[in-house]
Amino acid sequence: MADYDDAPELPEHVLEELTEQAAEILLQARYTIALTGAGISAESGIPTFRGKEGLWTKHGEPPLNQYEQFVTDPEAWWERVVERRRNPDELSASLQDAVPNDGHFAMAALEEVGVLKHTITQNVDNLHRLAGLAHLTEIHGNSQWLRCMDCGTRSPFDEIPEQRPPRCDQCGGLVKTDTVMFGEPIPRLALDTCIREASQADCMLLVGTTAVVSPAADFAWEVRSRGNPLIEVNLDPTVISAHCDVAIHGKAGEIMSRIVDKVKRGLETRDEQPS
Ligand code: NAD
Ligand code: ZN
Repeated sequence: MADYDDAPELPEHVLEELTEQAAEILLQARYTIALTGAGISAESGIPTFRGKEGLWTKHGEPPLNQYEQFVTDPEAWWERVVERRRNPDELSASLQDAVPNDGHFAMAALEEVGVLKHTITQNVDNLHRLAGLAHLTEIHGNSQWLRCMDCGTRSPFDEIPEQRPPRCDQCGGLVKTDTVMFGEPIPRLALDTCIREASQADCMLLVGTTAVVSPAADFAWEVRSRGNPLIEVNLDPTVISAHCDVAIHGKAGEIMSRIVDKVKRGLETRDEQPS
């Protein structure tokens, strides 16, 4: 597992000022949405792909034709999935045991107080759901689900299917894991929800994402192009940092918890003021 404890820390007064600025922007916005990436789950023990400690940074990029492999030979592809379940690699093993961290709970708290309207996550780890976030689009799917390639019906991936490749109960179509692979189109419903949410957003919060994977990152640029503020929380600077109104470099769990505290305080103050 990656060691995130050696990350350089911002001085306390800078952290205070930046999290205060972020909270003020969130309090002023009418419709904030979020984009999260692997970084928000790093403190839950799930390694990222990119970034200093990322799996790809350390081991190189995997073959990018996984979806093509599925389409060409779904049976062989499913045998590899089964093999990985029996002998999990670093990522699969961490996904099995992970629980949400302070960053996930902070996002759910922001939603609960009405400040965060929708979250688009690139993560497949189910941790936002476990933390109680309700308005969520998993743009790259969820590793704990299966999906029919024909009708889109999803079902839990609790057990290894006996028939391989499995067939859909509803339409007989070919079933794969819900996780969206390289070369695979993003499911239409998820994409449409993201487009709709981004089009009405007047602020976007980016947490633990390198913001380089398309189309997920495109929504941030789109919100920005209409003159709306972006807030970034990431261990390291990214391609989008310079375009953010506030970019805070530190661990998602700590920074998001501070932002939520300040937002809650701001809401209380607002309630106390005579109207
Ligand atoms: P990424 O792996 O490309 O980058 C992660 C980012 O998070 C980096 O910028 C890194 O500096 C930052 N980071 C690392 N630790 C952090 C911390 N504690 N707090 C805040 N930021 C931290 O992530 P991405 O941009 O989301 O890349 C996308 C792809 O990786 C997605 O397609 C996603 O499906 C896949 N992925 C998902 C998971 C998961 O479900 N948890 C894990 C690995 C990869
Ligand atoms: Zn089907």
